[in-house]
Amino acid sequence: YKSIAVLTSGGDAPGMNPAIRGVVRTALHHGIKVYGVQRGYSGLINGDIHVLSSKGVSNIVQKGGTFLKSARCSEFHQATIRANAASQLRKLGIEALIVIGGDGSLTGAHLFEEETGLPVIGIPGTIDNDIFGTDDTIGFDTAVNTALNAIDKIRDTADSHERYFLVEVMGRSSGFLAVHVGIAAGAEMIAVPEFAVDVEAISLQLATSKRKGLGSSGIIVVAEGNAPGLTNRIAEQMAHHGHTPYVSILGHIQRGGHPSGHDRVLASCLGAKAVEYLLAGYSDMMVGVNQGQVVDVPLDNLTRYRKGLDPELLKIALQLHK
Ligand code: ATP
Repeated sequence: YKSIAVLTSGGDAPGMNPAIRGVVRTALHHGIKVYGVQRGYSGLINGDIHVLSSKGVSNIVQKGGTFLKSARCSEFHQATIRANAASQLRKLGIEALIVIGGDGSLTGAHLFEEETGLPVIGIPGTIDNDIFGTDDTIGFDTAVNTALNAIDKIRDTADSHERYFLVEVMGRSSGFLAVHVGIAAGAEMIAVPEFAVDVEAISLQLATSKRKGLGSSGIIVVAEGNAPGLTNRIAEQMAHHGHTPYVSILGHIQRGGHPSGHDRVLASCLGAKAVEYLLAGYSDMMVGVNQGQVVDVPLDNLTRYRKGLDPELLKIALQLHK
């Protein structure tokens, strides 16, 4: 390869910047020219593509968000638009594309290579950690820690006012973030989209805890799931059972902030490995993590399988409830 491009797509995640830096510096090390595409697939379609230099990625390793900007781009769902996007790259002599993003972005990347023949490598970048084939995603560790920071503060109020808090965390249709945050925050309960929320059972357990003298305050972590307003609805239903929890929706603070040390190292390694896999002749794959090792995952697998919650971790979470 003489020339490649990199873009970030979907929800931004802390660590996307060090991932871009990893791609750029590794490619330059191998004598490959690197272009940055602005605003994900939107920039690809519009030809908003510019050369990146080593200096251009200086001083970004510690910054949240993505300096290439990210976007959701509904047009990219159409095959004709994807074909136009490929011609934008070919016009500039770009021979391969590295996509940093979530499940949707990497599904789009797979279709792009399949239809246009332009080699693509994916890098998992999402705070949700919901991508099949990889134990970890860039931004997940930072988001867990950001949520914990907030919940530790909320717990002071829950404790002082002897109230329960329903704290809603992100994660889209996956409960990964909620389970990790719940365990690390010592949450009294965790509600995830993989299982139906049983308000009656939650209410009953809170009443039992109180009766047993285990206290009448605590944190219930609720994953946002696919249902907007879910947490407020749970609070309303709990009121019918005699409980009046406070609701705190953490929202977008979970997506921003300085990437953690873990995410910076992960992003740097995956960025570098993406280029190395490309040079080794791989494509239509994602660089993932399996038991601490970087592995190649066919992008096709992401479209066919869904990542499930770790049953061991769920079991531990349940055992740790009081
Ligand atoms: P996150 O879940 O962290 O927000 P994501 O990459 O899953 O990240 P999506 O909104 O699902 O976020 O996808 C981002 C973009 O990827 C979409 O706006 C679209 O441009 C492209 N994309 C998603 N799904 C597909 C698909 N099935 N076919 C083609 N392109 C897609």
